[in-house]
Amino acid sequence: MRAPRVRFAPSPTGFFHVGSARAALFNWLFARQYDGVFVLRIEDTDAERNREEWVGGIISALEWLGMRADEGPYRQSERSERHQVAIDALWEARFLYACGCSRDEIEARTKGNATPGYDGHCRDLGLDRGEGRALRFRTPDDGVTVVSDVIRGEVNFPHSAMEDFVCVKSTGQPLFVLANVVDDRDMDITHVIRGEDLLPTTPKGVLLWRALDSAAEGEAGWGETTMLPVFAHLPLLVNEQGKKLSKRKDPVAVEAYRDQGYLPEAFDNYLALLGWSPPGDVEKVGLETIVADFRLEDVHHSPAFFDVKKLTHLNGEYIRELAVDDFIAACRPWVDPVPGAWAPTGGGAPWPSERFDPATFARLAPLVQERVATLGEVPAMIDFVFLAEPVIDETSWEKAVTRDEGAVAILTDALAAYETCEWSPESLHEATLAVAERHGRKLGKAQAPIRVAVTGRTVGPPLFESLDVLGRVEVIRRLRATLGRIGQGD
Ligand code: GLU
Ligand code: ZN
Repeated sequence: MRAPRVRFAPSPTGFFHVGSARAALFNWLFARQYDGVFVLRIEDTDAERNREEWVGGIISALEWLGMRADEGPYRQSERSERHQVAIDALWEARFLYACGCSRDEIEARTKGNATPGYDGHCRDLGLDRGEGRALRFRTPDDGVTVVSDVIRGEVNFPHSAMEDFVCVKSTGQPLFVLANVVDDRDMDITHVIRGEDLLPTTPKGVLLWRALDSAAEGEAGWGETTMLPVFAHLPLLVNEQGKKLSKRKDPVAVEAYRDQGYLPEAFDNYLALLGWSPPGDVEKVGLETIVADFRLEDVHHSPAFFDVKKLTHLNGEYIRELAVDDFIAACRPWVDPVPGAWAPTGGGAPWPSERFDPATFARLAPLVQERVATLGEVPAMIDFVFLAEPVIDETSWEKAVTRDEGAVAILTDALAAYETCEWSPESLHEATLAVAERHGRKLGKAQAPIRVAVTGRTVGPPLFESLDVLGRVEVIRRLRATLGRIGQGD
């Protein structure tokens, strides 16, 4: 087999969809496997729906996920001359005809027809090309277009069910199906690997491909005949209800996952599972193993459940595997953002940067690393150290302070004990154990009000290390303030 050339061809019409990221990954994997070329082509011909910021989003998301393009990014919009040449050749060879029907006219004529779509009204009228006229493809009346797909086998599309589809809008703007095929030909694409949602347009692409071949052989001589690429349509991504992921209702934006602190390694690993299973049914497999084991022909065609819980769980496993220094470095955008560097949308750290202390964070980091599933959870675990006052979580306060009749006694006793005990996690542990015993409680039950008083929440890093890091003066001050807040202060 000659080295494959694959392409990822997103349209920049919104946030970078997880389905697009999966398509990019499968193309990238295939290229890596066969020493092929991974081309990035931005399909930005639909000026009304594309925005430049979405292009930036695609490029930075791919960079984040470690999928470098070997060629590109090409811009489809910069290739319109080529598209025009192809249109002229198809017109000359009579594959296209002009249609002057308005949408309303078509609808009025075809309402109630068994086969929906255009009725071929202008097919033999011999209309000239020109202002206000779309160009339609003359779909053969009989026969079938067979799409042979690595994942789905042979898929038949009878021509009787296909309309004479529009290739060029009445404004002169070529449609995606045409530009896509012309570009794939010009870029020597050997394998088209993309989402299942594009399967229905594939027979149109195949018809166009063949028409361009025959136009190339004819007098127009606009190009060469080229081999039809191999197709592979990746399974649909569905939500928990088994419905196609919805842009509005489901969390589909890759950017949002990055903001929440998913690691690119974990995200890539999870994406690879969407339609493919690593040998041996292990789910946590590094990218290197995936590159080695991935087979396009092993991709299944049944819908793949995009399971955020599973992704999050996997992410936690990847986080715990990091060397502490790498974890600290990975947390940087959330705890101590570098001016000008990437930071999560809405900003990272909730504390003023001058209050952040890297040495203190380094002490807490190993404890936090054990307890988070995403890096975005880190600030809430440590904000009690870097904020002048802890953020009191009302539910925690209710549960551990207001509704605990013994809370005041515990806090008062702990305050006294902490004033004199030695200041180390071990001594704080002992002192707190003694407090718990004096009040006939288990240690955990005694810790709860203390933790809420000092950190604001019932969950966080281990209490005695937290107290140790915060220091005696501040711990005492916070316990006093809490007693004051519940009206028991001195
Ligand atoms: N640009 C189109 C899309 O994003 C086509 C992609 C393709 O052919 O791979 O839906
Ligand atoms: Zn018409």
